[in-house]
Amino acid sequence: MPSDSKNVPTVSPMTKVLAKSLWIAACVFSITAVVASSPGQQPSSPNPSLYLGYRSQNWQPERDWENKFREGIIAGNIRENMRRLSARPHNVGSPYDKDNAEWILSRFKESGFDAHIETFTVLFPTPKERVVELLEPSRFTAKLQEPALPIDPTSNQTAEQLPTYNAYSIDGDVTAPLVYVNYGNREDYERLDRMGISVKGAIVIARYGGGWRGIKPKVAAEHGAIGCIIYSDPRNDGYYDGEDFPGGGWRPRFGVQRGSVLDTDYPGDPLTPGVGATADAKRLAIKDAKTITKIPVLPVSYSDALPLLSALTGPVAPEDWRGALSITYHVGPGPAKVHLKVVSNWDLKPVYDVIAMLHGVDDHHWVLRGNHHDAWVNGAEDPISGQAALLEEARMLGELHRQGWNPKRTIVYCSWDGEEPGLLGSVEWVETHVNELKERAVAYINSDSNSRGFLDVGGTQDLQSLISGVARDIPDPETKMSAFARSHLHSIAHAKNAEERNDLRKRNDLVLQALGDGSDYTAFQDFAGIPTLSVEFDGEQDGTQYHSIYDDFYWYSHFVDTDFVYGRALAETIGSTVMRLADADLIPVDYRPQAEAIQKYEGELEKLLKDKRDEFSERNLELEEGVFTAINDPRRPTLPPPAEAVPPYINFAPLKNSIELLEKSSARYSKALSKWQSSGGPVPSENKLELLNADLLKVSRLFLNENGLPERPWFKNQVYAPGAYTGYGAKTIAAVREYMDEKKWKEAEGQVPQVAQVIENVAAGINQCAADLEALQAPQQ
Ligand SMILES: [Zn+2]
Repeated sequence: MPSDSKNVPTVSPMTKVLAKSLWIAACVFSITAVVASSPGQQPSSPNPSLYLGYRSQNWQPERDWENKFREGIIAGNIRENMRRLSARPHNVGSPYDKDNAEWILSRFKESGFDAHIETFTVLFPTPKERVVELLEPSRFTAKLQEPALPIDPTSNQTAEQLPTYNAYSIDGDVTAPLVYVNYGNREDYERLDRMGISVKGAIVIARYGGGWRGIKPKVAAEHGAIGCIIYSDPRNDGYYDGEDFPGGGWRPRFGVQRGSVLDTDYPGDPLTPGVGATADAKRLAIKDAKTITKIPVLPVSYSDALPLLSALTGPVAPEDWRGALSITYHVGPGPAKVHLKVVSNWDLKPVYDVIAMLHGVDDHHWVLRGNHHDAWVNGAEDPISGQAALLEEARMLGELHRQGWNPKRTIVYCSWDGEEPGLLGSVEWVETHVNELKERAVAYINSDSNSRGFLDVGGTQDLQSLISGVARDIPDPETKMSAFARSHLHSIAHAKNAEERNDLRKRNDLVLQALGDGSDYTAFQDFAGIPTLSVEFDGEQDGTQYHSIYDDFYWYSHFVDTDFVYGRALAETIGSTVMRLADADLIPVDYRPQAEAIQKYEGELEKLLKDKRDEFSERNLELEEGVFTAINDPRRPTLPPPAEAVPPYINFAPLKNSIELLEKSSARYSKALSKWQSSGGPVPSENKLELLNADLLKVSRLFLNENGLPERPWFKNQVYAPGAYTGYGAKTIAAVREYMDEKKWKEAEGQVPQVAQVIENVAAGINQCAADLEALQAPQQ
């Protein structure tokens, strides 16, 4: 399924900063001040120049090993890994997917890892029949094919390429008038309602972007549409942004974005929700798998979409709905009449997860690191840019091991299969091993696509201090500033307002955004309650070929990380983080940033309620005043929006009280940690240290409620989850927030106490750890 964190691939605001070079020059001068002033800002947080969780006698050797690790990472190896792994198409079930898994296995073994392949059996539909035709007012048959380009040596591997399609579209054969629905999200349909346009019985055409693709057929079906076409508008990732391929790196006229449209009720194999898809697992019948779409859906290029869009009349599309094609965008319905047919082979296919362990002195606790290896086609960027770096990390960790480095904890490298269709490999593995993982897993670090630019980290904020510390040691390969400084200053440059800028300036860490379900971290965070990071470099790439045949070695090595130095930076960043997690005396978590983040999420709920109250009161007033009647153009009539009941006040007090407890306990832990570190990390007995580590391990599990979210029981985490209508994007405190989105205010309020209870439990867990840590420092009896 997904790739990077970008819903709208992939125009970073950064690429639009014209005065980029001036900007960087300015950064060079200000960074000294930022770093120098930072230690004083948060007096009870651990000093960022220290290695979090290390005793004084241990951080120096750790630093030496990490330096050795980083010096040993070779960009050329990453390049060669990519060349090999992306040489042929390697989607789930293809010969080269298996070949890659076996090659990856042999690389891990060569590096000294204890490695094996774990196989699951999953439902993976592939196209059998695909038709998109315009029947009226003129005839046109869509090509549904990305042509080979002579300059691009792997683009002609037609026999092995998966045709352009959206996996897990239901089979269907429909003919109906066409309606253009912009991105096809819920707000777009509210807009259509006001235009007096219904999609009932229609086929909709939506452009890619503005949210996850799977939402488009889902919301279309909810509004009565019978088919869905999704196309890539050049406004979003084509010539509007820069030269298109092969002259430049942006999506060309025949380029198509494949992708999964599996619904987000639960990720993983649609037939085995909640349990591993082992050979003998109990399976649902395909008709009972509720994550398969309700209407047929196919993706097309804009060259295939153009005749369809050109044949629409009706109202002119609102300004922000218009793309970059040289037509007037109309909404319809019709007179364009379209025939859409999708039939798939509904086969079970094997997925090959490669699991590789470097056993630690303490084999009981695991530090996990993963990236998927399957792609839609050749997948140089998605996912091989991350996979190639992962293998280079493993090679170098193995090399250090040979030189005498013995990690304290066991390191587990995971090369997942089946991510693209729906996180299949990682979800099935986590579901199978969930009890063991809850007992052992310290953290999971994911990567997926990597490009060029700024260090971009998301995850659970208990790891925020750790990753910020590591980022200070990683040089940005092009500017030679630290990856930390560049990322930190980039966030200031793009802050929303002065208040946010001021907040950022006071910080000595990188702020981690919560993760939704964009990649293989999902099951670790949302199902098993494991601290999670997602790491990439991005923002300065010259194009995207996301999920197209042109996402291949030729394109990547010409337009993205051309010398693979950002691949090296990724390996350096993640490998160092893995080592620091594996070797620390104390599991290197710090809960203060997490408490801060959760407080912010609660504030967002209150703001959401206030905004909705204001919005609906204002709307109702305008309806009474006749505003909508007055501004209605009789020649281009629009309907007034419906009157809305103003939401009642919600009692957030239990949540606020629990967050206050969380803040107190996390501040207590941070203070104890700071004191412990600055006194050299006394350990009166190994036993006490291990008791503390065992308690630290439990804290993140306390975010789980085994009943799950009220409408999506697979998602156990009560703070971090993807949204049912945002896909990749996170909806924090989803149990409450999603009912608010649905305007179910009573139900939302009803969830407050149980989320508060979960947060109280977390606070109590952290308090226990703080007490353990204070006891470490108490004079011995
Ligand atoms: Zn990916």
